[in-house]
Amino acid sequence: MRQAMQAAPLGDDVFGDDPSVNALQEKIAGMLGFEAALFVPTGTQSNLCGVLSHCGRGDEYIVGQLQHCYRWEGGGAAVFGSVQPQPLEHQADGSLALADIEAAIKPDDPHFARTRLLALENTLGGKVLPFGYLQEATALAKRKGLATHLDGARLFNAAVAQAAGGDARKEARRIASLFDSVSVCFSKGLGAPVGSALCGTKDLIARARRIRKMAGGAMRQSGMLAAAASHALDHHVDRLAQDHALARRLAEGLAGLDGVQVEAPHTNILFVDLVGPARGKSAGLVDALKKQGVLATGLYRLRFVTHLDVDAAGVDRAVAAIRSCFRG
Ligand SMILES: *Cc1c(COP(=O)(O)O)cnc(C)c1O
Repeated sequence: MRQAMQAAPLGDDVFGDDPSVNALQEKIAGMLGFEAALFVPTGTQSNLCGVLSHCGRGDEYIVGQLQHCYRWEGGGAAVFGSVQPQPLEHQADGSLALADIEAAIKPDDPHFARTRLLALENTLGGKVLPFGYLQEATALAKRKGLATHLDGARLFNAAVAQAAGGDARKEARRIASLFDSVSVCFSKGLGAPVGSALCGTKDLIARARRIRKMAGGAMRQSGMLAAAASHALDHHVDRLAQDHALARRLAEGLAGLDGVQVEAPHTNILFVDLVGPARGKSAGLVDALKKQGVLATGLYRLRFVTHLDVDAAGVDRAVAAIRSCFRG
């Protein structure tokens, strides 16, 4: 990846003439079946550009309580776009109930914000939303005249899991085809240092380009970063299956441990809940693990993520470290 970055031809992407950025945008748009794409510094900015390309001041987007573009982005769509979120509770499988979506869509009445957009996320906290559900939810949105946005920061994890050894690119394209815009992240599972892409129609991407400029996300000689992302698309998609296998290995290694409840992982994120008296160990647990070289987040619900810098020996060390914390 570093060699690809060093070899990347550069231009000035603010003028649209960085060949490496243009090549990346064409590659990801083509892969996911869209007319156009826009390279942006972060997934947060990609979602912001997406929501603000669909919605104007006084519009509303329907979104899940746990979704990144509602909960974890500092309220950006409201702050920068005067777009009101309409958050909904998730079902246990991560989906938003169709009845809840339908009930949240407001009639055209001056009392209400104008409901314009349904935003979904896949994977959501590592959970793959069933493809049939995505079909139904996006069909409902279209029937009701809403646009649809997918926060697919982890789309390729969903695609690899769904392909189950088959063609992950085809699955990614099949999921993306249901949405008007899709955001994908290069710096999570795909392992590039920086960057996301927003995909959509030429018109939508033209609007997004203006928002990216206002947000300060138009970069100059960013081809070096685009080359890293492009390398990740070529070399780091299918290998996500290894991360998923290692998350399962971690889950199996912790199974039966007193005081924890392990959720079977769909992809590369594993949640471990502390139950009963073990909850008393929560304070200091993450620090104790860190001392043993194991990084996790959370308090009563620990979150572990496998990725391309983690191997089977590392997972086994993590299992031993976690087990020792619970003995100690
Ligand atoms: C990480 C993440 C983002 C935001 O990406 P940043 O590059 O950290 O801004 C958005 N959505 C999802 C689902 C993510 O996991």
